[in-house]
Amino acid sequence: MKDSLHFSRAVRLGGTFDVIVAGGGPAGCAAAIAAARLGGRVLLIEATGMLGGMGTAGLVPAWCPFSDQEKIIYRGIAEEVFRASATQVTLPDPERLDWVPIDAEALKRVYDDLTEQAGVEVRFGVQLAAVEMRDERHVDAVITSGKDGLLAWRAAVYIDCTGDGDLAAWAGAECEMAPECQPATYCFHLGNVDSKAYLHAESLHGSNPASPVHRILESGRFPLIVGTHMCQSLVAENTVGFNAGHLWRIDPTSSAGISAGLKQGRRMAAEYLRALREFAPESFGDACLAETAPLLGIREGRRVVGEYRFTAEDYLERRSFEDEIGRNAYYIDVHGSREAETGGRNKFLKFERYGRGESHGIPYRCLVPRDLDNVLVAGRCISSDRAANGSLRVMPVCLVTGQASGTAARLLAASPGTAARDLEPRRLREVLRENGAWFC
Ligand SMILES: Cc1cc2nc3c(=O)[nH]c(=O)nc-3n(C[C@H](O)[C@H](O)[C@H](O)COP(=O)(O)OP(=O)(O)OC[C@H]3O[C@@H](n4cnc5c(N)ncnc54)[C@H](O)[C@@H]3O)c2cc1C
Repeated sequence: MKDSLHFSRAVRLGGTFDVIVAGGGPAGCAAAIAAARLGGRVLLIEATGMLGGMGTAGLVPAWCPFSDQEKIIYRGIAEEVFRASATQVTLPDPERLDWVPIDAEALKRVYDDLTEQAGVEVRFGVQLAAVEMRDERHVDAVITSGKDGLLAWRAAVYIDCTGDGDLAAWAGAECEMAPECQPATYCFHLGNVDSKAYLHAESLHGSNPASPVHRILESGRFPLIVGTHMCQSLVAENTVGFNAGHLWRIDPTSSAGISAGLKQGRRMAAEYLRALREFAPESFGDACLAETAPLLGIREGRRVVGEYRFTAEDYLERRSFEDEIGRNAYYIDVHGSREAETGGRNKFLKFERYGRGESHGIPYRCLVPRDLDNVLVAGRCISSDRAANGSLRVMPVCLVTGQASGTAARLLAASPGTAARDLEPRRLREVLRENGAWFC
């Protein structure tokens, strides 16, 4: 690695690490914790002021299922994060593993504590801005913008956990992205809700024919509410978190697209409040709009092309792999890309859901960009086809791929000259097992 910087004079060297993780969502946190626990010097850069990604800054109100309907299958760091988060919410059944609500404030502290205890250096308000290449296959440094101005950071291995594959794409890795991605959703919290009334009222979920959302639509008086999509959970005392409504044709890789989505999302959140006050007054008559999310909810963006591309066929065959680093059982959950396709629901639901105890393996090769040697990816942007990504994108899976990428990065950093695709999967799986991960 070069000692002298060849960057412009505006860029100063921030530091040198074994592993740099870009993006502090579930994947990035698990990656950084795993690498640091194995003794690596780890930098985690996060654009917002908190860890947790969509689970905190995105206000997603619940964890997707952690079980295969029989037992917990997302283990290791995923289970630690989940259990620490679940103790912070009141549940009728404290052993519940599926669709557990998220108290975002509590979850931020869970990630702060776990990263701090592991010795990860976390930098908030730091945006990955550019990637410097040593040659076509090796990242030399990442450039960030933040309170310190422009800084260059160097590491042996880089992990892209930005959700959108920013680092890998800017380093030249081939990526796939649908011409029209799944719609975005802008999550929000309503406060001053009557919790008791809410828990005893008709479910608001669009699949319930008696949900007030159907009457809201029939009234024709709320033009921004155009579908029945309405997931919600009681996330704290008198506070209900909503994952409701769709924003179509948002380009997740463009600040113009995201800005337009945020403005429209804020208008929609206010309209949901007005509608629920009127159509569900027992629960929401005195409610207020407590918070809209710092981050727009992006379901789909770039998928980095890896050494293996996990497909819907793999999903349907419940395939296991010699290099698998975790298992997944979540259904293929793809929301239609256009208003006409959804009516609130999704066009890929023709894929069957798994039965009790069923799951598939997640190959390590999905975390290895085919075009790069010292970069790994984890989280939403791993190598998969569009349909399969609709299953792999949820938070329990992101925590699992995060831990695997962090573990692999630490092993690679300790073995200079080894390309990510040449890492011995047997050794990786051994270390993952020793650290609580579960797979076949
Ligand atoms: C509306 C919606 C509802 C969902 N509902 C659920 C649900 O109910 N349950 C569930 O389990 N999953 C749900 N998901 C899926 C899940 O939340 C995400 O797919 C998952 O959080 C992705 O994890 P990640 O770590 O890959 O990325 P993210 O959670 O998106 O985190 C990425 C992090 O990287 C940071 N970042 C991005 N770019 C940069 C950059 N250039 N520089 C620095 N930092 C950067 C971001 O600020 C963010 O903190 C939902 C998703 C959406 C959008």
